[in-house]
Amino acid sequence: MLPLGVLTPDEPRPVLLMNTIWANRSQLHDDLTTVGGLRDFLGVPADEGDLRAFRELRQALRDLAGVLTEDTREIAQGRDLERAVAEVNRAARSAPQWPQLAVRDGELVRHKESEGSLADSERASIAAEAVELFTGESRVLLRACHAPGCVLYFVKDHPRREWCSPSCGNRVRAARHYRRNRGESPGPNGFS
Ligand SMILES: [Zn+2]
Repeated sequence: MLPLGVLTPDEPRPVLLMNTIWANRSQLHDDLTTVGGLRDFLGVPADEGDLRAFRELRQALRDLAGVLTEDTREIAQGRDLERAVAEVNRAARSAPQWPQLAVRDGELVRHKESEGSLADSERASIAAEAVELFTGESRVLLRACHAPGCVLYFVKDHPRREWCSPSCGNRVRAARHYRRNRGESPGPNGFS
């Protein structure tokens, strides 16, 4: 298994969660099939209940990203907007959080306190970031990657960016090159 986030390490956390479903060649991979996988993703303790909750949140985020990007890829079909909205809202409430003041080296600093487990707190903050992502300026920059076979999303952070990752860009260029030079088509998913 590739290390988590290796294809799109710089995306915002809601997108990183969406992209724990990824494809390699014609095979789909899911980094969140075990509690261990979720722990690796979050970096905090987690249990079976957290795994179920994060998988539900991930599906909701992917559904909403699918709607926003008008995603026509096969993996993005069958999305349910109302259920997705309700799920993100539920996740955002899973751990109440509030800002607190502290004094550090004579300076006032702010930190966040939260009720609930660390995993709940991560889920609530990823959901809150998703609310920002889907309603703020970056919502028009969210993209589905249309490289052959890819199932990832990304935020188009510079005007010339077309693909989720350099590896998708390279694959698309290689497939074009192959077609031009051989007059043949590459494999069904563009992996030649
Ligand atoms: Zn891609």
